[in-house]
Amino acid sequence: LEVQLMQAQKMESVGRLAGGVAHDFNNMLSVILGHTEMALLRMDPNQPTYASLREIDKAAQRSADLTRQLLGFARQQTVSPKVLNLNESISGLLTMLHRLIGENIRLQWQPAANLWQVRMDSSQIDQIMANLCVNAHDAIADVGEIIIETGNCTFDERDGTIHPHGAVGDYVRIRVSDNGSGMDKETRAHIFEPFFTTKEVGKGTGLGLATIYGIVKQNNGLIDVASEPDKGTTFSIYLPRFKGSEEPATPRTATSSFNRG
Ligand code: ADP
Ligand code: MG
Repeated sequence: LEVQLMQAQKMESVGRLAGGVAHDFNNMLSVILGHTEMALLRMDPNQPTYASLREIDKAAQRSADLTRQLLGFARQQTVSPKVLNLNESISGLLTMLHRLIGENIRLQWQPAANLWQVRMDSSQIDQIMANLCVNAHDAIADVGEIIIETGNCTFDERDGTIHPHGAVGDYVRIRVSDNGSGMDKETRAHIFEPFFTTKEVGKGTGLGLATIYGIVKQNNGLIDVASEPDKGTTFSIYLPRFKGSEEPATPRTATSSFNRG
Protein backbone atom coordinates (compact mmCIF):
# COMPACT_ATOMS: atom_id res chain seq x y z
CA LEU A 1 0.00 0.00 0.00
CA GLU A 2 2.82 2.35 0.91
CA VAL A 3 4.50 1.67 -2.40
CA GLN A 4 1.25 2.45 -4.18
CA LEU A 5 0.84 5.67 -2.24
CA MET A 6 4.37 6.73 -3.08
CA GLN A 7 3.72 5.86 -6.67
CA ALA A 8 0.59 8.00 -6.72
CA GLN A 9 2.40 10.94 -5.12
CA LYS A 10 5.26 10.65 -7.51
CA MET A 11 2.83 10.63 -10.42
CA GLU A 12 1.10 13.68 -9.06
CA SER A 13 4.30 15.72 -8.89
CA VAL A 14 5.60 14.45 -12.20
CA GLY A 15 2.23 15.17 -13.75
CA ARG A 16 2.20 18.75 -12.46
CA LEU A 17 5.72 19.35 -13.66
CA ALA A 18 4.98 17.79 -17.03
CA GLY A 19 1.84 19.88 -17.40
CA GLY A 20 3.66 23.13 -16.68
CA VAL A 21 6.57 22.36 -18.94
CA ALA A 22 4.30 21.07 -21.69
CA HIS A 23 2.28 24.26 -21.63
CA ASP A 24 5.29 26.58 -22.04
CA PHE A 25 6.89 24.24 -24.50
CA ASN A 26 3.76 24.19 -26.58
CA ASN A 27 3.80 27.96 -26.89
CA MET A 28 7.36 27.90 -28.18
CA LEU A 29 6.53 25.07 -30.53
CA SER A 30 3.76 27.14 -32.05
CA VAL A 31 6.33 29.78 -32.91
CA ILE A 32 8.67 27.19 -34.46
CA LEU A 33 5.86 25.55 -36.41
CA GLY A 34 4.43 28.84 -37.61
CA HIS A 35 7.75 30.13 -38.93
CA THR A 36 8.77 26.80 -40.43
CA GLU A 37 5.55 26.50 -42.32
CA MET A 38 5.77 30.07 -43.57
CA ALA A 39 9.36 29.49 -44.73
CA LEU A 40 8.35 26.23 -46.46
CA LEU A 41 5.64 28.04 -48.37
CA ARG A 42 8.04 30.68 -49.61
CA MET A 43 10.92 28.39 -50.47
CA ASP A 44 11.60 26.76 -53.80
CA PRO A 45 11.27 22.98 -53.18
CA ASN A 46 14.35 22.40 -55.35
CA GLN A 47 16.58 24.24 -52.94
CA PRO A 48 18.81 21.93 -50.87
CA THR A 49 17.66 23.48 -47.58
CA TYR A 50 14.04 22.66 -48.36
CA ALA A 51 14.50 19.02 -47.27
CA SER A 52 16.11 20.15 -44.02
CA LEU A 53 13.26 22.49 -43.33
CA ARG A 54 10.81 19.67 -43.97
CA GLU A 55 12.62 17.55 -41.36
CA ILE A 56 12.43 20.42 -38.86
CA ASP A 57 8.74 20.74 -39.58
CA LYS A 58 8.13 17.01 -39.08
CA ALA A 59 10.07 16.92 -35.81
CA ALA A 60 8.19 19.96 -34.54
CA GLN A 61 4.89 18.30 -35.46
CA ARG A 62 5.89 15.18 -33.51
CA SER A 63 6.87 17.34 -30.53
CA ALA A 64 3.51 19.07 -30.71
CA ASP A 65 1.78 15.66 -30.64
CA LEU A 66 3.78 14.66 -27.60
CA THR A 67 3.07 17.87 -25.68
CA ARG A 68 -0.60 17.47 -26.48
CA GLN A 69 -0.49 14.02 -24.89
CA LEU A 70 1.40 15.40 -21.90
CA LEU A 71 -1.17 18.12 -21.43
CA GLY A 72 -3.93 15.54 -21.65
CA PHE A 73 -2.17 13.55 -18.94
CA ALA A 74 -1.74 16.49 -16.59
CA ARG A 75 -4.81 18.57 -17.32
CA GLN A 76 -7.51 19.19 -14.78
CA GLN A 77 -10.15 16.81 -15.90
CA THR A 78 -13.84 17.12 -15.39
CA VAL A 79 -15.38 13.75 -14.85
CA SER A 80 -19.06 12.97 -15.10
CA PRO A 81 -19.60 9.63 -13.43
CA LYS A 82 -22.64 7.68 -14.50
CA VAL A 83 -23.95 4.24 -13.66
CA LEU A 84 -22.71 1.96 -16.43
CA ASN A 85 -22.88 -1.59 -17.61
CA LEU A 86 -19.33 -2.20 -18.82
CA ASN A 87 -20.52 -4.85 -21.30
CA GLU A 88 -22.48 -2.15 -23.08
CA SER A 89 -19.63 0.37 -22.87
CA ILE A 90 -17.09 -2.10 -24.28
CA SER A 91 -19.47 -3.40 -26.98
CA GLY A 92 -19.81 0.18 -28.17
CA LEU A 93 -16.03 0.46 -28.51
CA LEU A 94 -15.39 -2.70 -30.52
CA THR A 95 -15.42 -1.04 -33.95
CA MET A 96 -12.91 1.55 -32.79
CA LEU A 97 -10.74 -1.13 -31.13
CA HIS A 98 -10.77 -3.29 -34.27
CA ARG A 99 -9.54 -0.30 -36.22
CA LEU A 100 -6.79 0.40 -33.64
CA ILE A 101 -5.35 -3.12 -33.72
CA GLY A 102 -5.57 -3.80 -37.45
CA GLU A 103 -6.47 -6.88 -39.42
CA ASN A 104 -3.75 -9.31 -38.39
CA ILE A 105 -4.87 -9.48 -34.77
CA ARG A 106 -7.95 -11.43 -33.78
CA LEU A 107 -10.08 -9.77 -31.14
CA GLN A 108 -12.19 -11.98 -28.91
CA TRP A 109 -14.90 -10.40 -26.80
CA GLN A 110 -16.19 -12.44 -23.87
CA PRO A 111 -18.75 -10.47 -21.85
CA ALA A 112 -19.96 -12.06 -18.62
CA ALA A 113 -23.68 -12.61 -18.12
CA ASN A 114 -25.43 -10.51 -15.47
CA LEU A 115 -22.52 -8.14 -15.03
CA TRP A 116 -22.76 -5.80 -12.05
CA GLN A 117 -22.83 -2.09 -12.68
CA VAL A 118 -20.11 0.45 -11.98
CA ARG A 119 -20.32 4.20 -11.56
CA MET A 120 -17.70 6.10 -13.49
CA ASP A 121 -17.01 8.43 -16.38
CA SER A 122 -17.52 6.53 -19.63
CA SER A 123 -14.70 8.36 -21.42
CA GLN A 124 -12.35 6.88 -18.83
CA ILE A 125 -13.41 3.41 -19.97
CA ASP A 126 -12.65 4.45 -23.55
CA GLN A 127 -9.18 5.57 -22.47
CA ILE A 128 -8.47 2.37 -20.55
CA MET A 129 -9.58 0.10 -23.38
CA ALA A 130 -7.81 2.02 -26.14
CA ASN A 131 -4.53 2.18 -24.22
CA LEU A 132 -4.59 -1.51 -23.28
CA CYS A 133 -5.40 -2.58 -26.83
CA VAL A 134 -2.72 -0.37 -28.39
CA ASN A 135 -0.17 -1.85 -26.00
CA ALA A 136 -1.33 -5.38 -26.81
CA HIS A 137 -1.07 -4.55 -30.51
CA ASP A 138 2.46 -3.22 -30.05
CA ALA A 139 3.46 -6.38 -28.16
CA ILE A 140 2.28 -8.66 -30.95
CA ALA A 141 4.95 -8.92 -33.64
CA ASP A 142 2.83 -10.10 -36.52
CA VAL A 143 -0.30 -12.16 -36.02
CA GLY A 144 -1.85 -12.73 -32.65
CA GLU A 145 -4.88 -12.57 -30.46
CA ILE A 146 -6.36 -10.20 -27.93
CA ILE A 147 -9.06 -11.37 -25.55
CA ILE A 148 -11.27 -8.91 -23.70
CA GLU A 149 -13.33 -10.38 -20.87
CA THR A 150 -15.55 -9.03 -18.14
CA GLY A 151 -16.61 -10.67 -14.89
CA ASN A 152 -18.00 -10.18 -11.41
CA CYS A 153 -15.71 -10.91 -8.49
CA THR A 154 -15.79 -10.67 -4.74
CA PHE A 155 -12.80 -10.35 -2.46
CA ASP A 156 -13.70 -11.53 1.00
CA GLU A 157 -11.32 -11.55 3.96
CA ARG A 158 -12.91 -14.63 5.44
CA ASP A 159 -13.09 -16.99 2.49
CA GLY A 160 -9.41 -17.82 2.36
CA THR A 161 -8.91 -16.67 -1.23
CA ILE A 162 -6.02 -14.46 -2.20
CA HIS A 163 -7.08 -10.85 -2.63
CA PRO A 164 -5.37 -8.34 -4.90
CA HIS A 165 -3.66 -5.86 -2.58
CA GLY A 166 -5.87 -6.95 0.31
CA ALA A 167 -9.02 -5.51 -1.23
CA VAL A 168 -12.37 -6.45 0.25
CA GLY A 169 -15.66 -6.01 -1.59
CA ASP A 170 -17.46 -6.57 -4.85
CA TYR A 171 -15.73 -5.60 -8.06
CA VAL A 172 -16.37 -5.72 -11.77
CA ARG A 173 -13.31 -7.05 -13.57
CA ILE A 174 -12.10 -6.18 -17.05
CA ARG A 175 -9.37 -8.38 -18.41
CA VAL A 176 -7.32 -7.73 -21.54
CA SER A 177 -4.97 -10.54 -22.58
CA ASP A 178 -2.60 -10.82 -25.48
CA ASN A 179 -0.22 -13.49 -26.73
CA GLY A 180 2.50 -10.98 -27.55
CA SER A 181 6.07 -10.47 -26.37
CA GLY A 182 5.29 -10.39 -22.64
CA MET A 183 7.53 -8.66 -20.13
CA ASP A 184 10.38 -9.63 -17.87
CA LYS A 185 10.33 -8.85 -14.14
CA GLU A 186 12.47 -5.75 -14.49
CA THR A 187 10.11 -4.20 -17.07
CA ARG A 188 7.02 -5.18 -15.09
CA ALA A 189 8.33 -3.28 -12.07
CA HIS A 190 8.27 0.05 -13.91
CA ILE A 191 5.33 -0.03 -16.31
CA PHE A 192 3.02 2.24 -14.30
CA GLU A 193 5.62 5.00 -13.97
CA PRO A 194 5.00 8.04 -16.15
CA PHE A 195 7.41 8.19 -19.11
CA PHE A 196 8.57 4.60 -18.72
CA THR A 197 8.65 3.08 -22.18
CA THR A 198 10.60 0.35 -23.94
CA LYS A 199 9.46 1.59 -27.33
CA GLU A 200 11.59 3.56 -29.73
CA VAL A 201 11.52 7.34 -29.77
CA GLY A 202 8.38 8.63 -31.43
CA LYS A 203 6.47 5.36 -30.84
CA GLY A 204 5.93 5.35 -27.10
CA THR A 205 5.36 8.14 -24.59
CA GLY A 206 5.22 5.95 -21.51
CA LEU A 207 2.01 7.64 -20.45
CA GLY A 208 -0.57 4.99 -21.36
CA LEU A 209 -0.36 2.82 -18.27
CA ALA A 210 0.35 5.78 -15.96
CA THR A 211 -2.91 7.30 -17.19
CA ILE A 212 -4.79 4.04 -16.66
CA TYR A 213 -3.29 3.72 -13.19
CA GLY A 214 -4.53 7.22 -12.36
CA ILE A 215 -8.04 6.50 -13.63
CA VAL A 216 -8.24 3.22 -11.71
CA LYS A 217 -7.07 4.87 -8.47
CA GLN A 218 -9.47 7.75 -8.90
CA ASN A 219 -12.30 5.22 -9.06
CA ASN A 220 -11.04 3.27 -6.02
CA GLY A 221 -10.18 0.32 -8.23
CA LEU A 222 -7.21 -1.99 -8.56
CA ILE A 223 -4.97 -3.02 -11.42
CA ASP A 224 -2.94 -6.19 -11.76
CA VAL A 225 -0.64 -7.52 -14.42
CA ALA A 226 0.48 -11.05 -15.18
CA SER A 227 3.10 -11.37 -17.87
CA GLU A 228 5.72 -13.78 -19.07
CA PRO A 229 8.34 -13.22 -21.77
CA ASP A 230 7.32 -14.77 -25.10
CA LYS A 231 3.99 -15.99 -23.68
CA GLY A 232 1.94 -12.84 -23.33
CA THR A 233 0.36 -10.42 -20.92
CA THR A 234 -2.90 -10.10 -19.02
CA PHE A 235 -4.03 -6.85 -17.45
CA SER A 236 -6.87 -7.14 -14.91
CA ILE A 237 -8.70 -4.05 -13.78
CA TYR A 238 -11.11 -4.19 -10.86
CA LEU A 239 -13.70 -1.45 -10.45
CA PRO A 240 -15.97 -1.28 -7.40
CA ARG A 241 -19.48 -2.50 -7.97
CA PHE A 242 -22.15 0.20 -7.86
CA LYS A 243 -24.79 -0.81 -5.35
CA GLY A 244 -26.83 2.33 -4.74
CA SER A 245 -29.64 3.65 -6.83
CA GLU A 246 -29.01 5.98 -9.73
CA GLU A 247 -28.87 9.63 -8.73
CA PRO A 248 -28.89 12.54 -11.16
CA ALA A 249 -25.36 12.73 -12.51
CA THR A 250 -23.63 15.87 -11.24
CA PRO A 251 -20.33 16.63 -12.91
CA ARG A 252 -17.51 17.20 -10.49
CA THR A 253 -14.02 18.44 -11.06
CA ALA A 254 -11.07 16.37 -10.06
CA THR A 255 -7.79 18.17 -9.48
CA SER A 256 -6.31 15.68 -11.88
CA SER A 257 -6.87 12.13 -12.96
CA PHE A 258 -3.98 10.62 -11.07
CA ASN A 259 -3.64 12.24 -7.68
CA ARG A 260 -6.13 10.28 -5.70
CA GLY A 261 -3.79 7.63 -4.41
P1 ADP B 1 4.06 3.19 -24.11
O1 ADP B 1 3.04 2.27 -24.73
O2 ADP B 1 3.98 4.56 -24.68
O3 ADP B 1 5.44 2.62 -24.12
P2 ADP B 1 2.70 2.54 -21.67
O4 ADP B 1 2.62 3.23 -20.35
O5 ADP B 1 1.41 2.28 -22.37
O6 ADP B 1 3.68 3.38 -22.56
O7 ADP B 1 3.46 1.16 -21.46
C1 ADP B 1 4.73 1.17 -20.82
C2 ADP B 1 5.56 -0.07 -21.19
O8 ADP B 1 4.94 -1.24 -20.66
C3 ADP B 1 5.66 -0.34 -22.67
O9 ADP B 1 6.69 0.41 -23.28
C4 ADP B 1 5.97 -1.85 -22.68
O10 ADP B 1 7.33 -2.09 -22.40
C5 ADP B 1 5.20 -2.36 -21.49
N1 ADP B 1 3.90 -2.95 -21.89
C6 ADP B 1 2.67 -2.41 -21.72
N2 ADP B 1 1.71 -3.22 -22.17
C7 ADP B 1 2.33 -4.33 -22.63
C8 ADP B 1 1.88 -5.56 -23.23
N3 ADP B 1 0.57 -5.81 -23.42
N4 ADP B 1 2.80 -6.48 -23.56
C9 ADP B 1 4.12 -6.26 -23.35
N5 ADP B 1 4.61 -5.13 -22.79
C10 ADP B 1 3.74 -4.17 -22.44
MG1 MG C 1 0.96 2.52 -24.45
